[in-house]
Amino acid sequence: MKRVPLVVANWKMNHTARAAAEFAAGLRPLLAPFAGEIGTRLELAIAPAFPALDRLGKALAGSGITLAAQNVHEDESGAFTGEVSLPMLTDLGCRSVLIGHSERRQLFGEGDDRILAKLERLLASEVVAILCVGETLAEREGGRLESVLARQLDEPIRRVAASARPPGQALVVAYEPVWAIGTGRVATPDLARAAHAEIRRRLVAGLGPEGERVRILYGGSLKPANARSLLEQPDVDGALVGGASLDPVDFSSIVSICRETQLERS
Ligand code: PEP
Repeated sequence: MKRVPLVVANWKMNHTARAAAEFAAGLRPLLAPFAGEIGTRLELAIAPAFPALDRLGKALAGSGITLAAQNVHEDESGAFTGEVSLPMLTDLGCRSVLIGHSERRQLFGEGDDRILAKLERLLASEVVAILCVGETLAEREGGRLESVLARQLDEPIRRVAASARPPGQALVVAYEPVWAIGTGRVATPDLARAAHAEIRRRLVAGLGPEGERVRILYGGSLKPANARSLLEQPDVDGALVGGASLDPVDFSSIVSICRETQLERS
């Protein structure tokens, strides 16, 4: 099954609107050698902080790079001070939204029910849900990787199966071992391969052959120096990049490595 590789930048709470526009101006020439492939053979998305969405969207116009959001509220509108709804995001051109990021789970107390409500909201739209899953160090050391993935994935997969949307267009799974996010501690290629294979197994169990169409990204301290060994693993269809996506040179290097490894695979 051939899947279009995808690299997503998660800027977290970094880059003002002005810095985002500067980033885009710096990135575009770096991607020029394969600009014609972006949006067709290779998909790229950037998730800036909300205030930078508008300006970044304008700065990326015509590049094929799409806008993603780091979060969404599950309701469409209402008295939810400080929150942002899906219509507000689509109005600015967002095509995908991160849900279940471990920072949302750990720092903002988002549990599985909340994540499912957000997923349902996205499934009722045309926006792609990028569902982040992954185990903590204690869970991995306690041999609980599979049970964590089952808890984080199986119900979302059932919801996708029950929706009218083609799974490959509705869902992307990002495997992000919590102990690797922002820590400089990257998963070994073997660990990533095993986790991605387990995620693929669950996708196919829940969605049948359509589960082969869902892309699985690796995330967690990915850098130009370690990207190749991870991105060349089977079932690693791209990357969710935090820290290294803040710099256009590092980000474009990761994109270029992703493109090469996926071309070598086909
Ligand atoms: C992330 O937050 O999704 C992430 C992968 O961060 P980092 O690359 O900085 O580990």
